[in-house]
Amino acid sequence: MGDKDNDYLYRFVFEEFGVRGEFVRLAASWQAVRSKHVYPAPIAAPLGESLAAVSLLSATIKFKGSLVMQIQADGQSGGMVRSLVVQATDSGTLRGMASFEMPAEGDSESPDPASVLGHARLVLTAESPDGRRYQGIVPVEGEGVAGAVEHYFRQSEQLPTRLWLGADDQVACGLFLQRLPGGEPDAEDWNRLTLLAETITQDELLSLDVEELLHRLFHEESVRLYEPQPLAFRCGCSRERVAQALVGIGEGEVAQILDEMGAIEVNCEFCNASYRFDAVDAAALFLPGSGDAPDRVQ
Ligand SMILES: [Zn+2]
Repeated sequence: MGDKDNDYLYRFVFEEFGVRGEFVRLAASWQAVRSKHVYPAPIAAPLGESLAAVSLLSATIKFKGSLVMQIQADGQSGGMVRSLVVQATDSGTLRGMASFEMPAEGDSESPDPASVLGHARLVLTAESPDGRRYQGIVPVEGEGVAGAVEHYFRQSEQLPTRLWLGADDQVACGLFLQRLPGGEPDAEDWNRLTLLAETITQDELLSLDVEELLHRLFHEESVRLYEPQPLAFRCGCSRERVAQALVGIGEGEVAQILDEMGAIEVNCEFCNASYRFDAVDAAALFLPGSGDAPDRVQ
C-alpha cells in the first residue's frame, strides 16, 4: 500500500456513514518544491500545507486538467506571504511556489499563522485542457490554510468538510473528511468522526503511515481504504509555452523589451528553468507561418 519514501494520495470511505476521506503524504515532491527557492520556516509551513491541500482537493473533483490554489495578499494585509501558488493536475503532478516579505529585524521569529498570511484571499481555479475555467474565491481571515479551505467549502459547496494540514522540513501531509452528497443526513456520525480526527497531533499527522493513522483515529469504525494514487513534482513549463506567451503580448511589446534589454529572459518561478529569446529568436516568433504564430497556437 505505498511506501514511506514515495508520495501518495490515499482515499478511504466510511460507507455506512456516507463520509469520505483522504490522506496525503508528500516527501519527494515537497523536497523538490523547497529546493527551488530558500523559504524561511514561517513561509515554508503554509506552502507545504497548501501543497498537501491542493493534492487533497484535486482528488475530490472529477476533472481533466489542473487545479490551482492561490493565496493572494490584498495589498494592505500586513502578512508576510505576498502570493502563494500551488497546482495539482489530473495526472498526479504537483508544483508550487511562494513570494514573501520578511518582517523587519527584531520582529517575532516565529510569527503566528494569522500574521504570516495576513488578510488575503484564497482563489481556487479548476482549468480544463480546452481552457474552460471554474473559479471560487473566499477571504482568508486569520484562520490558516486549513481554515481558509474549510471556509471555501462552507461558502461554495455546502458539503461539510474538514482538513488537517501540516508541514515540516521533510514532509507535507494532510487529512481530509467530507460528508458525501445525498443519503440520510446524520450529524451524529459526522460529528463523531470529525471529533476522532480532531485528536490527531501534528507529530502523528507528519509521521504515521496511512494504516497507522486510520487505526490510531478510527479503529472502532469500519473504514474501507482504496489503492493509493502516486503523486510527483513536475513543472509543466516549456520553451513553447513561453513563446506562446510572448506571441500573446504582441510584436510591439516584445520589440520594446528587446530594445531595452537586448534579449528576453523568462525564469520559471516553479522550477527555476530559464528561457532566453534574443532578437533573432523573438523575430522568428512573428514570422508568417511560424509554428508559434497566433493562428497556429492551439
Ligand atoms: Zn517550470
